Amino acid sequence: MFTKVKGTYDLLPKDAKKLSHIENYLKEVASLYGYQEIRVPILASSDLIHRSTGESSDIVSKETYDFIDRGDRPMTLRPEGTAPVIRAIIENKMYANYPLPLKLFYYGDMFRYERPQKGRFREFRQFGVEVVGTNSPYMDAEVITLASTIFNSLRINNYYVRLNTLGDDESRTNYRNALKEYFKDKLDSLCADCKRRYETNPLRILDCKADKDNEVLLNAPKISDYLSDNSKAEFELVKSYLDTLKIPYVIDEQLVRGLDYYTNTIFEFVLKDNTLGQSGTICAGGRYNKLTKDLDGPELGSIGFAFGLERLMEIIDERVDYSHKLFCQLIPIGLNAKINMIKLMQILRVSGFSCDMNYEANSLKGHFKSSENNNVRFILIQGDEELATHSIKIKDKIQNTEEIISEEDLMDYMIKRLRCSNKSCENCEGDCGNEN
Ligand code: ATP
Ligand code: MG
Repeated sequence: MFTKVKGTYDLLPKDAKKLSHIENYLKEVASLYGYQEIRVPILASSDLIHRSTGESSDIVSKETYDFIDRGDRPMTLRPEGTAPVIRAIIENKMYANYPLPLKLFYYGDMFRYERPQKGRFREFRQFGVEVVGTNSPYMDAEVITLASTIFNSLRINNYYVRLNTLGDDESRTNYRNALKEYFKDKLDSLCADCKRRYETNPLRILDCKADKDNEVLLNAPKISDYLSDNSKAEFELVKSYLDTLKIPYVIDEQLVRGLDYYTNTIFEFVLKDNTLGQSGTICAGGRYNKLTKDLDGPELGSIGFAFGLERLMEIIDERVDYSHKLFCQLIPIGLNAKINMIKLMQILRVSGFSCDMNYEANSLKGHFKSSENNNVRFILIQGDEELATHSIKIKDKIQNTEEIISEEDLMDYMIKRLRCSNKSCENCEGDCGNEN
């Protein structure tokens, strides 16, 4: 009997359906933020993957599926999406033919020769975004916000955002030299991998999993002392925009990320508990301002992130109905309310909220039955009394609340509630955008 290849898995109909729903949902959220889909081949030239990711990175040194094809060409199954997407942008001259910044998302299969375990496969799926052609720190905050919106709206709140900056070229060169100097006479206390990293990319020593509690590492010089004024100022802006958007983060100067192409802002979303064992990073990304030039294109400030769909599937709360399209059921009591609510529904719909009303129902029971069938989150009710005061009774089935709000406040209310769907969130009335 044939069995599946180690590190791969079958998705039987129930799980395949779940994954398709999640993918569709991710597409929708990304498009709310102005991202467009791009699809690029799984098969790539080894040169592209090796050059972009870096020969010394874990991925290229240990994990790529490299082979020679029948035409003697070195090929690699893509281990991540950024390099193939950037290659496509450069090859198709998208930077000249489309308005900048390009805001793209992708999802699809990636391949890494890893030791399979929970949340870690050899063939796995990533969803990611790439923004190309902007240096604005607002964009750094936007991509982090997008990832956090995705997790929050899927009711994944038990994570924190690790944030750091690697600074610009000047900062990194200075820092690299300082690390070389510092580790010069301490190589004996480092693991074998780190000894190699000392030669190839000393920054990566800081990211070592084996040495992570090593005193020598903990006392190493800090990037913050080597940042240029410009890098410092930019990072301050990123942080202040995240504060404005109420996205909680923790500055972690040990964070360097595994790929060679990162510059400036880098981040990871990490689970607070160990549901995923050793694989607790659920999303990772950062700026890569030099990659387009390294791949023979023009210099374009860029930033992106990627996350694994298996890890997402693993932690997603079974109760989340990511399949539901409808947010609101409108329930009018009486003809006047019905006419008013039809107008309200149009306003909500053109503002991007999906809504429905059962035009035929002539009893409350019938309306509520439709709201069950539609599996909506919000139920909006208006009768003569509410109509007279321009108000609406609104039930939130996730937060389990019921209140009367004025028609004027409806949009605000919805936006706040959709940002935080965490029932047990104590710190917010739906507007914190995160847990607490
Ligand atoms: P890790 O430290 O867990 O190995 P990484 O730094 O190699 O992660 P990235 O290359 O930044 O990960 O990829 C981004 C995301 O892709 C990860 O946060 C994770 O969600 C997912 N991912 C990476 N490798 C795998 C894998 N082998 N199987 C499943 N998901 C993965
Ligand atoms: Mg890895």
